[in-house]
Amino acid sequence: MIPVGFEYVRPDSVDGALALLAEHGEDATILAGGHSILPVMKLRLAAPELVIDIGRLAELNYVRVDGDGDDSWVAIGAGTRHRTVESSDVVAAEVPLLAAVARTVGDPQIRHRGTLGGSLAHADPASDLPAAVLALGGTVVLRSPRGERSVPITGFYTGVFSSVKEPDELIVEVRVPRTGAGSGWAYEKFTRRANDWAIVAVAVVDGRVGMVNMGPTPLRASATEAALAEGASIADAAALADQGTDPTGDLTATKEYRRHLARVLTKRALTTAAGA
Ligand SMILES: Cc1cc2nc3c(=O)[nH]c(=O)nc-3n(C[C@H](O)[C@H](O)[C@H](O)COP(=O)(O)OP(=O)(O)OC[C@H]3O[C@@H](n4cnc5c(N)ncnc54)[C@H](O)[C@@H]3O)c2cc1C
Repeated sequence: MIPVGFEYVRPDSVDGALALLAEHGEDATILAGGHSILPVMKLRLAAPELVIDIGRLAELNYVRVDGDGDDSWVAIGAGTRHRTVESSDVVAAEVPLLAAVARTVGDPQIRHRGTLGGSLAHADPASDLPAAVLALGGTVVLRSPRGERSVPITGFYTGVFSSVKEPDELIVEVRVPRTGAGSGWAYEKFTRRANDWAIVAVAVVDGRVGMVNMGPTPLRASATEAALAEGASIADAAALADQGTDPTGDLTATKEYRRHLARVLTKRALTTAAGA
């Protein structure tokens, strides 16, 4: 299908994009990599009157360490492509989990177009990167004409394809704590074929566990994390991974199979992260 007709504009700054969003509100949509919004428009699940293309804004494309000493983090511009996250020396040294997860997204074409901000904003519970940012305890920085606010990723998602982001807000940056190359981390993504979306995936870093496709939003495996903190074995903690989750059943997996996968993948990821 082809989308409903729309106007297209490519502002030359974040401020320009914000002004357009403020003027057009819910009649406008942001286009970053276009790998989620364009399929949605082609299916006519969205029919914006105005498409605001931020995909070439250099001011949203960076990876760097910000802050000072113990109070420092990796800051990634929202327009940074998955491929850049995957291949960045800074990400490899400071948050290797994120590089490994970016490497599992779709195929090279998708990774060369899709952006970190777009992946978080789209709020698809099957997406890989939101679960990694959740396991890392990251923060989403949102900007609007009212100013800037930082939202911990734990409070960002409100449901399937929805978040606390207001229609006039842009994600401008994602911040993740530096774990260092020596941290214990692993990503286990279960797919039917290479390049597919996850049926279930589990990201582990330093005893925190983020899960893909185990409910309407990316989730932390809270029962597993609590058990680990109390000294439970990996096997016993992983057996609790599906507690408090609400996966759906679909053509690829039943609810029960997803629950089984969550337990198995969590055990594998914790074992790898522990270097066992
Ligand atoms: C065939 C295929 C396979 C894929 N496989 C995977 C996979 O295995 N794993 C995975 O995680 N993803 C996968 N994806 C999705 C891919 O990662 C997308 O690129 C990503 O979900 C969206 O990023 P984008 O930059 O393309 O966003 P866009 O499509 O441009 O935008 C997505 C949504 O976010 C909004 N938005 C974008 N940027 C911002 C911003 N800075 N601030 C506010 N709102 C914003 C847009 O308005 C839109 O609503 C796949 C996509 C395709 C087409």
